[in-house]
Amino acid sequence: MIETKSEYEISLMRQACRISALALKAAGDAVRAGISTWELDEIAFGVIVSNGATPAFLGYNGFPNSICASVNDEIIHGIPSREAILKEGDIISIDVGAVYNGYVGDNANTYAVGAISDEARLLIETSKLAFYNSLEFARPGCRLHDISHAVQETSEANGFSVVREFVGHGIGKKMHEPPSIPNYGKAGTGIRLYAGMVLAIEPMINQGSAKVKINSDGWTARTADGKLSSHYEHTVAITKAGPLILTELEG
Ligand code: MG
Repeated sequence: MIETKSEYEISLMRQACRISALALKAAGDAVRAGISTWELDEIAFGVIVSNGATPAFLGYNGFPNSICASVNDEIIHGIPSREAILKEGDIISIDVGAVYNGYVGDNANTYAVGAISDEARLLIETSKLAFYNSLEFARPGCRLHDISHAVQETSEANGFSVVREFVGHGIGKKMHEPPSIPNYGKAGTGIRLYAGMVLAIEPMINQGSAKVKINSDGWTARTADGKLSSHYEHTVAITKAGPLILTELEG
């Protein structure tokens, strides 16, 4: 069942989302050659707890850290490590969530480490553009797969593929709530959207094939062909006035 959030609940979610966004920004701002993904995790953890919140990912199904740090061909769910030192030309997806007042926020972005290839830059920009194009359909009266279709169309138009195995999701008191939001689909299909739904929309797109494999750690999803992957995510409330990005920092 999809839980409808009242305006009051959405205002509470905004706080969890703001802290999630602050943690993402702090970790993202720290991305540079020579830093480990472990240190990025510590930065995000510090922001979350100093704002009185709890890391949503830490301990989630046994996940050991506060961020997912997925470098280059890693798609999502990369585990931070002291040994994973970023180097010039890498790209890194950071995904982070916080729980505050009983509600969860979730967001992700992919960052360049110094100078990156034009193709890598286009991949990152396309994952972000896919999100914003899909946002146009996060409105009452649209269909769920209008969002999915916009992600797929934007990605494929730029020569990239969309990951099938992992999807966006409803979010609220739990990090993962119905509905699942595939990053591919047919426009005009799926459930009808209405005000009070809160969705984590998260394009995950690959430079090469859409095929995925999972590392022996049981978490890290990477591209089967070893090519790059990019991820972009916001928590979005559907309101009568249109989409409201709850994980966007003002100013
Ligand atoms: Mg998510």
